[in-house]
Amino acid sequence: MEESTGQPRKIELNDGTYMPLLGLGTWKPEAVGQDMSQRAAEAAIAAGYRHIDTAYCYGVETAVGKAIQSMIQQGIIRRQDMFIVSKLWGTHHASEDIAVCLDKSLNDLQLDYLDLYLVHFPVGLKKMGDELFPQKDGKVLTSDIDYVDVWKGMEALKATGKVKSIGVSNFSIKQLERLLSVAKIPPAVNQVELHPYLVQSDLIEYCKSKNIALTAYSPFGSPGRPLEYQVGETDPMLLLQDPVIGDIAKKHNRSRAQVLLRYHVQQDIVVIPKSMKPHHILENTKIFDFTLDEEDINALRSLNRGWRACVIKELESHPFYPFK
Ligand code: NAP
Repeated sequence: MEESTGQPRKIELNDGTYMPLLGLGTWKPEAVGQDMSQRAAEAAIAAGYRHIDTAYCYGVETAVGKAIQSMIQQGIIRRQDMFIVSKLWGTHHASEDIAVCLDKSLNDLQLDYLDLYLVHFPVGLKKMGDELFPQKDGKVLTSDIDYVDVWKGMEALKATGKVKSIGVSNFSIKQLERLLSVAKIPPAVNQVELHPYLVQSDLIEYCKSKNIALTAYSPFGSPGRPLEYQVGETDPMLLLQDPVIGDIAKKHNRSRAQVLLRYHVQQDIVVIPKSMKPHHILENTKIFDFTLDEEDINALRSLNRGWRACVIKELESHPFYPFK
């Protein structure tokens, strides 16, 4: 991950900490085993990744924790070299549950602090045992807990030192505005879906104006996402197969994946591609030694069609659903 274009490999967050621009995504289909997640995280660290994005609800934190410990024990990294991100799930939005969710993640990851902790989604879910999507009569059960109150709990976590930075994910401009109007600590990051089919210029501009860093998730349009996220929807065209992206890749003698990742880091947007394949994991690091020109960026932006890979249709009617 050598830097030769003058672009920083890390960005400074609004709380003075530094976050690597490239991280490994770890959301996986149910069918994929834990050992594969562990091997992917180990391959990523060996390939130079120093940032891993995970979440309570991904069910992979134990595997990611084993990978981090194994690489520390082999002397390849130290804890302080890594930037580990996890997320508070909606079933734990009640003030008494927020620290419980964090402690579970820390325990599974075998860590005593996280570098960044995010509110995963603005909509809360009812707590029913360990259910991630609690349901009754086929309907997902939500809660009315206000994300503004959740944020107070996040601020309290930061005071404990168990999380260095706090942020949000999947928040709209309106929700960020409301949060900022009461927050004692502004969110350091908003992690959202971003790629050329979902350009979100307004959200990017807003976050930049408020000094909130952006992380782009599903940079390839999440081609391997779990089936329930594909119900009732057809992909307009898989991003990685788009001929415009193919032409830009050819022009720079790079892969389509590298073009899609470069598109973000060139704008100082953090990007977290997921892969289980060591050769893809390595390929995805080679994005800091070429530059897309204005014509490329304009061509990529012109592909915008407001298409989302990640919608949670069951939550659409909730007042805090962010993708209206
Ligand atoms: P993604 O990164 O857009 O796409 C992952 C898919 O791309 C995998 O199927 C992978 O297959 C393939 N791939 C990776 N590198 C490739 C390459 N160089 N060439 C060709 N194919 C390649 O999807 P994602 O997992 O949805 O998003 C990334 C991460 O963002 C997640 O894992 C998660 O950490 C985060 N995320 C967050 C949220 C949120 O609500 N905050 C939502 C979604 C995702 P192989 O394994 O075969 O390489």
